[in-house]
Amino acid sequence: MRAPLIAGNWKMHHGPRAAEAFARALMEGFHAVPAGVEVLLIPPFPAIAALRSALAGRPVAVGAQLCHWEVKGAYTGEVAPEMLAEAGCSYVLVAHSERRQLFGETDESARRRLAAVRRAGLRPILCVGETLAERDAGQTEAVLERQLDGALLGLEARELGGLVVAYEPVWAIGTGRNATPEQAQAAHAHIRGWLRGRFDAAFAGATRIQYGGSVKPENARVLLGQADVDGALVGGASLEAASLLAIAAAAAPK
Ligand code: PEP
Repeated sequence: MRAPLIAGNWKMHHGPRAAEAFARALMEGFHAVPAGVEVLLIPPFPAIAALRSALAGRPVAVGAQLCHWEVKGAYTGEVAPEMLAEAGCSYVLVAHSERRQLFGETDESARRRLAAVRRAGLRPILCVGETLAERDAGQTEAVLERQLDGALLGLEARELGGLVVAYEPVWAIGTGRNATPEQAQAAHAHIRGWLRGRFDAAFAGATRIQYGGSVKPENARVLLGQADVDGALVGGASLEAASLLAIAAAAAPK
């Protein structure tokens, strides 16, 4: 069974004070989250410590939006995954489309980051997804395969325990236009099939594939109800505890 993972990517929103207030509101409404559904918050770096201490002993994981691949060194501005582990993170986003589009990240840098996240004992959430032009040109599956192949090149299943893949069509991120449930299911099934071919059926069957792109309380149930959709990576709608809780309430273990 794959436990649905509902993750809030706060992007560059919510500093330490807002994170503490969020944690309080989340805990007040947490009874709405069904058993077996995992909730993860991914704040900006400065809010990680405040969020961890506000959620101490609570069943909510904390992650980071980015890391470097080296353990330490002269890399001003960068953060090592080992430091994130020490700070209490358990997941790290890898190659979010905003990182690919705005900060020049590539499949090759995704591979390095992904391996480093595993080295530190954390779980990577590898983001993949096509642009609108690529979808319109009928290239969705080829783009997903290229991104998966590039990021997982040379890595074995035993090195990838806990991998999560997030299917995030670029045209659906922050646009209010989500993929239809059928589009999401087709892409997720393709990703799972690719994982089966590249690794094996057990690995593909155990790997969670989240959908991301304008998930909101109103569309969560139908998207999360698709056979191969194992949770949601939520941007805008994760900034309010009530809407993240409503999305989590729509998830159920399959
Ligand atoms: C995201 O940032 O990963 C995302 C899916 O954003 P939004 O939910 O706002 O589309």
